[in-house]
Amino acid sequence: MKFVSTRALNNPKEYTAAEVIKQGLAPDGGLFVPTEIPALTEADLDRLAEMTYPQRAAEIMGLYLTDYTREELLSAANAAYGAPKFPEVTPTPITKVGDLELLELWHGPTSAFKDMALQIMPHLLSMALTKTGETRDALILVATSGDTGKAALEGYADVPRVKIHVFYPTDGVSRIQKKQMATQQGSNVNVTAIYGNFDDAQNGVKAIFADAEMASLLDKEGLFLSSANSINWGRLVPQVVYYISAYCDLMNAGRLQKGDLMDVVVPTGNFGNIFACCLAKRMGLPVGKMICASNQNNVLTDFINNGVYDRRRTFYQTVSPSMDILISSNLERLLWLVAGPEKCASYMEALREDGVYAVDSAVLEAVQEEFVAYFCDEALTKNVLREFYEQKKYLADTHTAVALSAAMRHRRANEEDNRTILVASTASPYKFSPAVLEALGKAVPEDGFEALRSLQKISGVPAPERLAALEALEDRFTEVISAGDMKEAVLAFARS
Ligand SMILES: *Cc1c(COP(=O)(O)O)cnc(C)c1O
Repeated sequence: MKFVSTRALNNPKEYTAAEVIKQGLAPDGGLFVPTEIPALTEADLDRLAEMTYPQRAAEIMGLYLTDYTREELLSAANAAYGAPKFPEVTPTPITKVGDLELLELWHGPTSAFKDMALQIMPHLLSMALTKTGETRDALILVATSGDTGKAALEGYADVPRVKIHVFYPTDGVSRIQKKQMATQQGSNVNVTAIYGNFDDAQNGVKAIFADAEMASLLDKEGLFLSSANSINWGRLVPQVVYYISAYCDLMNAGRLQKGDLMDVVVPTGNFGNIFACCLAKRMGLPVGKMICASNQNNVLTDFINNGVYDRRRTFYQTVSPSMDILISSNLERLLWLVAGPEKCASYMEALREDGVYAVDSAVLEAVQEEFVAYFCDEALTKNVLREFYEQKKYLADTHTAVALSAAMRHRRANEEDNRTILVASTASPYKFSPAVLEALGKAVPEDGFEALRSLQKISGVPAPERLAALEALEDRFTEVISAGDMKEAVLAFARS
């Protein structure tokens, strides 16, 4: 299987999976996409249904990562999805709530769905270095507003031939998120807080990536820079697995007959998670509609409903912060598939130049053939969260609540087809305890750990052990620097 850039028009250069995972972003600024989509037959589904999650992951990822052996993929999947990383029997349990099937993707070490990709991607990168004949080691730089940084640290800690340095705004993350990062273990990790906001951290990291002197200094240390963000193919392909795996689990449980269509609701930000579902559907998984659920930042809702993508709008900070985004990077991959490389390139250029593009009616129709979109404002998010807790005894996090709202509206609009609706549940409620308490109409303690305990007491649902245990851990990383000193900090870490 070969990959090309979404922005390559004529005679596109082809890359192997290992090259794609190592590079992250194509040299022309496009995203890597596979030149074909592998097929999944009913017989394959039967076979996969008999397997464990790591076995399914190795099989499914192997269809895309053809330059990795099944043994390599299986050993990576076992390390990523077994105990102690995922203590439960299955890493992605499905809970039936009313007539919805909730696919819980947050039973990993950082209690958010990003673990599903970031637990395995470091292994894929480490192997990619050998496969591509790379002699240097990778230095991963991350600027984070909270969730991604911790998930990346936890994934890359102690992975051979990789170092990781995470920067976060010292006053821009929650108490729990800060504690998660400050206490990170591992001999190859570094965490630095900076004075300023997330943009300052992000700009600092971008400047280091663009700095030629830095590249040559790092080269002397035997290092090259790499990134862990969600446009890397290595983060997408592990996400295809859990949609197929969920279908197998529902078949095994008799909650679905083989061949039945299932609709899938995904709380969406950068369009990575829902695009992975789209790949599963195009491989042949019986998925009906994909429902894109957004919060008040509803740029995708407008796009899917009207065909106009317009980022020139107010940015809202919401109670579902991991979906607060105006440019959904992975949408470029869908446009490439649906509209072809020429149109895709012209849309992306218009977005860069003017902040807006409109697709033609054929493209819009093709998008609407597969996708439905809803959004949910702050009040509705909180109401739905409270309703599910009070009436259905299910404690959801704020991101999942946005998806539940979309799922209920989709159900009401399609009452007659009676399809299975799978809802991606993307974070533990305890990761966002203060917002969840507020939604439930309870008092919100100032301190994050206080809030966690209070939520635990009220709901009777135990918090993930690793979150609750954080408070007692000793901080390992306490340094706060100014954004202007980030380059020096990276160099010092590189030389350590
Ligand atoms: C990152 C994230 C999302 C959004 O996923 P995308 O792949 O960016 O669309 C949703 N919920 C949670 C909890 C997240 O951390």
